[in-house]
Amino acid sequence: MLSPELLQILVCPACKGELRYEADAQRLVCPACRLAYGIKDDIPNMLIEEAEKLSPSATAPPAGSEAPGDQAEDDA
Ligand SMILES: [Zn+2]
Repeated sequence: MLSPELLQILVCPACKGELRYEADAQRLVCPACRLAYGIKDDIPNMLIEEAEKLSPSATAPPAGSEAPGDQAEDDA
């Protein structure tokens, strides 16, 4: 179990954004970068190159403001 204090100061090394702690999976997820940083022996591995890349849909933020051009506008 990671300490709340540690969780509070941890940010994504790539975008400096907030991380989501997934206790079940023992990982820290950055929704913005769609990277999952593994936690081993209560020590987060914050190396970008060792982070697991998540599929776009897996952690898509509910905002949905940046969906890359998939509009169904037919202009017949
Ligand atoms: Zn990030």
